[in-house]
Amino acid sequence: MSPAPLPAGETAHSATEGVTTVDGALALARQLGVERADAQALLAHLTGHDRAWLITHGDAPVAAEDLLRRLAAGEPLAHLTGVQPFHGLLLQVTPATLIPRPDTETVVDWALELLAARSGEPTVADLGTGSGAIALAIKAACPRARVTAVDLSADALAVAHGNGQRLGLAVQWLQGNWFQPLAGRRFDLIVSNPPYIAGDDPHLPALRHEPLAALTPGGDGLADLHALIDAAPGHLNPGGWLLLEHGWDQAAAVAQRLALRDFVDTGLRLDLAGRARASGGRLPGPATG
Ligand code: GLN
Repeated sequence: MSPAPLPAGETAHSATEGVTTVDGALALARQLGVERADAQALLAHLTGHDRAWLITHGDAPVAAEDLLRRLAAGEPLAHLTGVQPFHGLLLQVTPATLIPRPDTETVVDWALELLAARSGEPTVADLGTGSGAIALAIKAACPRARVTAVDLSADALAVAHGNGQRLGLAVQWLQGNWFQPLAGRRFDLIVSNPPYIAGDDPHLPALRHEPLAALTPGGDGLADLHALIDAAPGHLNPGGWLLLEHGWDQAAAVAQRLALRDFVDTGLRLDLAGRARASGGRLPGPATG
């Protein structure tokens, strides 16, 4: 429901109703220390208009105070709007999943390059899919890929499944622990953005609105990365690739583990800030298909 228009002469900010004007909301955001771009994105969502409209409609009423205060208190913008853009898709997100990060688009782009070099209908598995971000972005950009996505959390899978339906993208969604629901199956490409933050990382408290299990396996953060690398050869076709997102300081450890498990052609990709963010390699042998 859109908020009732303010009577003429009303001040820009009405504390009782939480209704303010666009300009009043931006002033409040500044006062609360909320990033202007975040405040604008929130106002755009609330008004149903884009940022250009906000600039020319500073007097328009908007009930933004409560949400701005929640944003200032650390709630993620994506939880307040319920959506997060990812690789050209608009995904619905809830507190049940990690909020997809732009850095993860690096992994998707790498996967799409590898898929472009293959003919036919390559098989892809996304492990720990969360909101479905990686699986759906791959399926959207490479419809001939047959994509399977796994998550341990039934609540996360419900979000992912809903995103798939809304976007009209056919992905097979399976619940279970990493490779457990994929027994006996092999893929041409396995991708994952597993929990990799160290258990004592000082940034974790700031991420408290997202599921801890999606962020950290505890310890040095490498446990799930290692487990995925160890098990992947049993689920890859000859020549099949494994791509993993990891922390900025984990590339060497991941490369070492990939080599230990006989992956070849190992390489890494940088995130948007230029830090090593994804590593991968392929099993020896000619790619089938
Ligand atoms: N990249 C995320 C962050 O640093 C963490 C994602 C993950 O642990 N897989 O906030």
